[in-house]
Amino acid sequence: MSYTVTLIPGDGIGPEVSEAMRRVVDATGVRIDWDVQEAGEKVIAQYGTPLPDHVLESIRRNRVGIKGPITTPVGKGFRSVNVSIRKALDLYANVRPAKSVPGVASRYEDVDLVVVRENTEGMYVGIEHDVIPGEAAEAVRIITRKASERVVRYAFEYARANGRKQVTAVHKGNILKITDGLFMRTAEAVAAEYPEIAFNDRIVDNLCMQLVQRPHEYDVLVLTNLFGDIVSDLCSGLVGGLGVTPGANMGDGIAVFEPVHGSAPKYTGQNKVNPTATIRSGALMLRFLGEADAAERVERAVAEVIRRGQQVTYDLKPHRDDPTAVGTREMADAIIAAMG
Ligand code: NAD
Repeated sequence: MSYTVTLIPGDGIGPEVSEAMRRVVDATGVRIDWDVQEAGEKVIAQYGTPLPDHVLESIRRNRVGIKGPITTPVGKGFRSVNVSIRKALDLYANVRPAKSVPGVASRYEDVDLVVVRENTEGMYVGIEHDVIPGEAAEAVRIITRKASERVVRYAFEYARANGRKQVTAVHKGNILKITDGLFMRTAEAVAAEYPEIAFNDRIVDNLCMQLVQRPHEYDVLVLTNLFGDIVSDLCSGLVGGLGVTPGANMGDGIAVFEPVHGSAPKYTGQNKVNPTATIRSGALMLRFLGEADAAERVERAVAEVIRRGQQVTYDLKPHRDDPTAVGTREMADAIIAAMG
């Protein structure tokens, strides 16, 4: 039995963390034919676009992909390739678990949160224009009942399947009365279908403060696109940083896995950054493929290497300039060795 998986290495630190993930996943013995596809700035000269059709076709064909981060220019240039992939393939739920890992220094122990972010609309529809160039500009935020309903339903189904007790809908309905009003009314209607799971809501700014002070009061969070993007980075910060948190972009019968972090361009090619977030994304992918044993072996090996605390990257050391920190490749080697 083998699987074909689209692998987009990405750019910046993407190729390094993707390679680490690929080696670890291959070491489980699960046979994967990696259909490697390039996207991002580096392919524009050849294809006239950072996201050529054949990349999307590959994911549509294989039904599963995994990617490294891809750089998006700030304030100019092309639209985010990451956002475009999610939209083009209708990967409507971005699932970002943030769970404490023993051995990772952070403010709290036993944080266990799951962010479910709406992935296809909100502030990320890319409708923006100058009203008076240099003076005033406008962006459009789109919220629909359909997209709200399916992402909230995804959050409840996730809660039910994973023995979670509570779903919190996060919004700014006091200010964005119409758009977040629609999101909240829709969330309340879906919640009524899941009486065994507690449901509550929080205004996003208050939620951020509460997460920092009392993260244990939360369980599954469901948010519109922009709030989900921001809050998921906050949650990564609660469990040791962007180096460790994986992610999954889920559609109906199709999924693309990727770390929460971006391409961290300043570390490109230095064999320095933490591969854990991408390796754990690989474990989520194995689970999606039905290879739960292999996924568990990867997760246990990652946890073991981190618990020992020796062959880990700089961000997992007590001091960031610790000379005993190892590189991306060497941490992957240690994880492979720990799988036995
Ligand atoms: P970033 O996540 O790339 O980096 C922020 C900081 O987090 C880094 O400077 C580093 O200190 C730390 N960090 C990130 N990944 C790490 C790792 N694996 N190990 C250790 N430390 C790590 O965020 P940014 O600087 O805001 O964005 C850089 C680029 O990435 C931008 O072009 C942005 O658009 C893009 N981006 C892409 C994705 C994606 O591909 N899905 C997601 C977020 C950002």
